[in-house]
Amino acid sequence: MYKHLFFDLDHTLWDFDRNSAECITELFDTFRLADVGIGSSDEFSRHFIAINQQLWADYDKNLIEHGYIRQHRFPMVFRALGVDESAVHADLNTEYLRLLPRKTHLLESARELLDSLSGRYTMHIITNGFAEIQALKMASSNIAHYFTNIVTSENAKAKKPDPLVFRYALKLSDANVSESLMIGDNYEADIMGAKSIDLDTVFYNPARQPVSNPPTYNIGHLKELMAIL
Ligand SMILES: [Mg+2]
Repeated sequence: MYKHLFFDLDHTLWDFDRNSAECITELFDTFRLADVGIGSSDEFSRHFIAINQQLWADYDKNLIEHGYIRQHRFPMVFRALGVDESAVHADLNTEYLRLLPRKTHLLESARELLDSLSGRYTMHIITNGFAEIQALKMASSNIAHYFTNIVTSENAKAKKPDPLVFRYALKLSDANVSESLMIGDNYEADIMGAKSIDLDTVFYNPARQPVSNPPTYNIGHLKELMAIL
């Protein structure tokens, strides 16, 4: 029934949280943040994850620009930790951006899933990330070869959940709505966005978040997708 599978990248295939936490731990050591009064890399990481997540959610809702995230996340983390060390904020951000896309961890079963689908479906990525960074993440984690088209908010000139992104992706891939499936972890961006043009959807929902408007499939583990496809 399906020919084209459209995957979100961050938190759906590429293990953003684990990769990001690894970077934060490295930054904590490299920048000797214990010396400026941050208790532990875990504490630093916990604050960073919460603040970064909130900023990306605001970005998805078009409340802030991408540059705002880069400029403000570390100052916000330091403020939350009660540490005043503004001289290192910009360098931390630069180093974080350099390290992050070089990280290689995928979510559990992601590679087995892609291997099992490869050759049976044409697969693509639709991501709100930035072309250069997302390409580097896919190269680092060795998954780029599975995908035919990589649609980013940059080249679609709109971002999920905007229906324009999904229409752009279908057109680029020469795919019809009825033969396509969108798979993602973000209910608003991936699921509601795809549903707005009547695409079937798989909500990768490991936290079992309750949803008002159900997706076609709701899964808690990527392995469940192998039974569907
Ligand atoms: Mg995602």
